[in-house]
Amino acid sequence: MELVFPAYDVRFIAITDGVDSANGFNEMSGIRNLFNDMYARDTSKKIRAVQRAKGERGERVGTTTPYGYMKDSEKHLVPDPETAPVVKRIFEMSADGKGSRKICDILSAERILTPSMYSFSKSGSRAGNPNISSPYRWSVKTVRSMLKNRIYCGDTVNFSTYTKSYKLKKTLKNDPENILIFENTHEAIVSRKLFDLVQKRYDGRKKADSLGDTDKFAGYLYCADCGARMYLRRREINNYSCSGHSKRGTDCTSAHYIRATEIERVVLAALRQVTQYARENSDIFYEQAMQRGEEESKRQLRDTQKQQNELNARINQLDNIIATLYEDSVIGRITPERYDQLSAKYEREQAEIKAKLEKITEQIESQKLCESCVHKFIQNAWRFIEMPKLTPELLRTFIKRIEIHEKEHKFSRSCGNRIDIYFTFSLESGMIIDGTASNEQTETTLLAS
Ligand SMILES: [Zn+2]
Repeated sequence: MELVFPAYDVRFIAITDGVDSANGFNEMSGIRNLFNDMYARDTSKKIRAVQRAKGERGERVGTTTPYGYMKDSEKHLVPDPETAPVVKRIFEMSADGKGSRKICDILSAERILTPSMYSFSKSGSRAGNPNISSPYRWSVKTVRSMLKNRIYCGDTVNFSTYTKSYKLKKTLKNDPENILIFENTHEAIVSRKLFDLVQKRYDGRKKADSLGDTDKFAGYLYCADCGARMYLRRREINNYSCSGHSKRGTDCTSAHYIRATEIERVVLAALRQVTQYARENSDIFYEQAMQRGEEESKRQLRDTQKQQNELNARINQLDNIIATLYEDSVIGRITPERYDQLSAKYEREQAEIKAKLEKITEQIESQKLCESCVHKFIQNAWRFIEMPKLTPELLRTFIKRIEIHEKEHKFSRSCGNRIDIYFTFSLESGMIIDGTASNEQTETTLLAS
């Protein structure tokens, strides 16, 4: 320190210690600096411990308010009515296949203030270095980091970065096992479904092409044999191939080539067929998707819910029994041995019921979810009656996953790849459309899982 300060022409003054580097360092100052250093380290340690405890409880450790949110009187994050819609739109644009560059261009064209300029305009804060001369110039980096931020679907992510010590300001990425995630800690701006979809597109995409559009099948297409993603290769004739095959050390033995136009044609045809079916035969469709009729489903749901109520009532009853038992033992109405025996018995029963209840609750949830998926699918089938071409929106609405099989005879021109399409109306694999991509008519089989 003594060497560095004079060299950079910095005057170091520690007022309380009476040290002024302009007067020359006395021999004590070295030691004092050491003390100061220890003090700083000590405080930093304490702050860290407090932050750690806070973070482990699920409270947000970050101090800045993320764009899209504001703090209410109790310092909770709530959506900012001015900026939350912008965040939502950014996610929607991404889900529709727009690249980050294109999203930036759209926001700039609409003269929407950048996050740092917005906070500058509201509070005068210069955090994030607001660029006053171009207040609407959104950066790709900003958009990307927003699209990856789980805070927007209502989660708190703590300790995703860390600093090595109080001296090094540089933040480093933390290992996944050290990162703590708490779900639904505040109001979400984007639905979890939309968020996951964007992540899927993000992971699946290698890079946006020069048009700023992304491969619309990114995140949907998989190799049926090895499970790897299939990527678009832009050639004279665009085609998709298995990324597992191109990597060394995998056991995928073929590229699973399929023409982009071919897969588009098959998927669109299957989509038209299935949605038409869902429209025209809603009841049968429902029955097949739910594996039972609507009345039957409702009855079963009622039964399970009744069971749930009964179990809950018994748990409360046992709570009371155990409490009374405890009182009895305190005032000596029963012997300690008897108390131990009885309370163990009731607690065991309670634990068993709780486990049962958990299972039933899970069943109810998945049944409800499944039902809402099927209903939504039928609704959407009515919403998209015309399907002139396969848009990212259609894919997102109706399709969960597409698997490509290798041709039965490799390099054959007459036989096609089998394509399995998984639709959004089922939670599990559910229904598979076997759209054989040959010149013959697409054969459609409905398989209930
Ligand atoms: Zn493969």
